[in-house]
Amino acid sequence: MEKTKLDCEKCGTEMNKTSRSEHNYGLQVLGVILFIVGVICLFIVPIGTIIGVILMILSARLGFKKSKVWLCNNCGYFFNRA
Ligand SMILES: [Zn+2]
Repeated sequence: MEKTKLDCEKCGTEMNKTSRSEHNYGLQVLGVILFIVGVICLFIVPIGTIIGVILMILSARLGFKKSKVWLCNNCGYFFNRA
């Protein structure tokens, strides 16, 4: 059962359900490499163009993850929720 209301354990303010994007810097570096490979592939017509576009789309998404959290607007404290 998920609670609908929760008080912040740091300051006691009512917390809000929200989503937060996490960054994974290792994956972001990989994303940059994939992006560059994708750009190079673009010039290998025709199959490389398709692979290049797919690689560029994939690379843009690497390293970012949306997670659901409880967030306190008062002090900024947050933690993951199920
Ligand atoms: Zn708080």
